[in-house]
Amino acid sequence: MKKFAALLAACALVLGAGGCSAARSLNHQEMAVSNTVTTGCSAKMKAEQSKMGIAWYRTSGEAKALYYQGYALGKMAVDQSLREKVKKKRAIVLDLDETVLDNGPYLSYMAQKGISFGDGWGQWVKKAEAGTLPGALEFLKYADAKGIDIYYISNRSETYLDATLKNLRKEGIPQATASHVLLRKDTASKEERRLSVERNHEIIALFGDNLTDFEKKFDNKEMEARNQDTVRFHAEFGRKFIVFPNPVYGDWDNGIPCS
Ligand SMILES: [Mg+2]
Repeated sequence: MKKFAALLAACALVLGAGGCSAARSLNHQEMAVSNTVTTGCSAKMKAEQSKMGIAWYRTSGEAKALYYQGYALGKMAVDQSLREKVKKKRAIVLDLDETVLDNGPYLSYMAQKGISFGDGWGQWVKKAEAGTLPGALEFLKYADAKGIDIYYISNRSETYLDATLKNLRKEGIPQATASHVLLRKDTASKEERRLSVERNHEIIALFGDNLTDFEKKFDNKEMEARNQDTVRFHAEFGRKFIVFPNPVYGDWDNGIPCS
């Protein structure tokens, strides 16, 4: 417990002044936003387990470096594509939360309140105060300048479209329009939305912090199966699939033990 107290202090150091003002009510529907399943662990246990990850994510240089690294790989993928002939218009596809948008203040709020991902999420999103992650804005501006179509496929509920567009525009994110920001309607699977982009585009690269951001084979998979598919798709990582770190929430935590 002493260790967690120290970690919380570290979180507090990087927490912006308004970061703890997100509201409180637990909204289980919104927890589905990330496909996160808490089966087998109580919310309190999950909250305790999250604290180390939140401290790492918010304070470490390594976390920031991984974002720079991922977006450098993205730029290489764009440049490589521009040297090749393609039959359709080029596009890139990005997840939003913990890929483009940095919800760090909300994560620190989680740590300070001892709550799980999803509690107060809607109120945080409506504030439209997420920043951008390292390297994201520069990369997106570069891709935009090169004439690449940019699509943001996120499992934020579609009811948050206005707030999400407001947040993206406030941060200067290019192509932040309703036709380029595809939020969740009926299903958490992103496959249909990816296919809608693919219909008229050659997708150069996809960016995300959850394997379901890349390929339908990862949808609704238990830990062992998703690890097997990670090996199966190994040649895509760092080339077409650009993965960012999220040690706090995601489908990866479905299979970890509670104690
Ligand atoms: Mg995400």
